Amino acid sequence: MPTPRETRQRAAIARVLAEARGPLLPEAVLRRAREHAPGLGQATVYRTLKRLAEDGELRAVRLDDERVRYEAAGGHHHHFRCRGCDEVLDVAGCGLAPPALGGPLPAGFRVERHEVVLIGLCARCA
Ligand SMILES: [Zn+2]
Ligand SMILES: [Zn+2]
Repeated sequence: MPTPRETRQRAAIARVLAEARGPLLPEAVLRRAREHAPGLGQATVYRTLKRLAEDGELRAVRLDDERVRYEAAGGHHHHFRCRGCDEVLDVAGCGLAPPALGGPLPAGFRVERHEVVLIGLCARCA
């Protein structure tokens, strides 16, 4: 059973990700979650993010820079990463299906999922 304190910390972290415009690095989650739960520690945030991802409440996202970010579990979408400030934004919608994805594939191959990362500069960095 989680303690009331753990439940509060978990809720603060889930709220930060529910309000985010895109997947966040653990450091960014820590910074924002401290506004709702002062005294929140770095180890707690890392551990809680891992556990929420294992429970399917969050998704761990690896983009082209290989860093692990977390987002609220939701429908399929793409991501935009600013190479200036490293912010990642969700991009809604997806019109991609083979052959737009670069087919043809060898005979017998079947696509099950895809991930798209757009890379560029945000309005602030451009
Ligand atoms: Zn930027
Ligand atoms: Zn897509």
